Amino acid sequence: MSAAAAVVVRPPAAVGVIGGGQLGRMFVQAAQRLGYRAGVLSPLADGPAAQVAHWSVVGPPDHLPALRDFAARAEAVTVEFENVSAPALRWLARRGRPVRPGWRTVWVSQNRLREKTFLARLGVPLAPWRPVRSPEELAAAVAELPLPLILKTAASGYDGKGQIRVEDASEAEPAWASLGRVPCVAEAVVRFAAEVSAVVARGLDGQTAAYPVGLNRHERHILDATVMPAPIGPVASQEARTLALGIAEALGTVGVLCVEFFLTADGHLLVNELAPRPHNSGHLTIEAAATSQFEQQVRALCGLPLGSTDLASPAAMVNLLGDLWAAGAPDWAAALRTDPGMKLHLYGKRTAAAGRKMGHLTVLDPDPEAALARALAARRALQPTRR
Ligand code: AMP
Repeated sequence: MSAAAAVVVRPPAAVGVIGGGQLGRMFVQAAQRLGYRAGVLSPLADGPAAQVAHWSVVGPPDHLPALRDFAARAEAVTVEFENVSAPALRWLARRGRPVRPGWRTVWVSQNRLREKTFLARLGVPLAPWRPVRSPEELAAAVAELPLPLILKTAASGYDGKGQIRVEDASEAEPAWASLGRVPCVAEAVVRFAAEVSAVVARGLDGQTAAYPVGLNRHERHILDATVMPAPIGPVASQEARTLALGIAEALGTVGVLCVEFFLTADGHLLVNELAPRPHNSGHLTIEAAATSQFEQQVRALCGLPLGSTDLASPAAMVNLLGDLWAAGAPDWAAALRTDPGMKLHLYGKRTAAAGRKMGHLTVLDPDPEAALARALAARRALQPTRR
């Protein structure tokens, strides 16, 4: 382990996150509670993270002058999302800044081809898939995989962007063309019974921690709701956590890792994708767990012991997308009145757009189904037209 890799960063040191969105914002808030001076490298001066940070450097994350400025201020660096230039992270690490997760973890998880190749070598169960980097590979994928399949761009995809479903062999070439014939993975469509995720953390000393598994519901490929613990029984839950911890170990990651799975009707787990950072499905750990996923990120980054992942209560989280603003500002008072126990999180984004994550609601309830019903009811109360 290099000297930088072993460094413990103590409060009130300055820690920095690359990326200025809601995940960066919640990291900053957790770091501040632990007494750190938390900053951000953000493309926007007034983005969700920069609004609450002690300090910020405005600029793109792979821009050398901005990185230099950031390196001069941050004594330890983490990321809020994986689409960050790996060479930029390596550059920061070479300047003696602990970068956690390290550039290799980010490099693997920012590209679906690299990620699937890594997971397949590890022996992790995956949906049948093929690389598509040429017309020949596309033809092979269509011939060898069961239809329908999904073509996903290898790079820069999130929330279902850069994905297209192919029902029939004749649709494959036009589908790939519409994605710009960039490198893709072709994946069999999984007829899953449920989607679940396991959020785990790995510390500097190799200590690990795993949250209970979350049950996720997606709408239009975007996470809509999470319930934790997922009602999938102890065997599948334990298997998901064990797989996620094994992946974190194999990546050698220091930080938080979320593994998203498909759970098939016959009880098999297939890994869908990795996020080497806190994840939307873990937001409810802010209220529900002894240690939130963001605090774990801070602890891992700073080389501190990880905290307990025990839940104080089952919980549900529902996202608030920009669509809720379509008929005007949501009725916050009505939602808070509907359920005084509900916790409202807004990310400070100035403009709402369809599909844009603006905030979320969390409800704790001894009955996880009731938690979800209450969170959904609170969200319905936000929409004047549907009340
Ligand atoms: P992803 O960006 O790969 O996580 O995809 C977003 C969402 O699309 C997933 O959470 C699923 O709901 C759906 N999806 C992606 N890949 C598949 C697949 N191979 N089979 C079925 N549904 C999928």
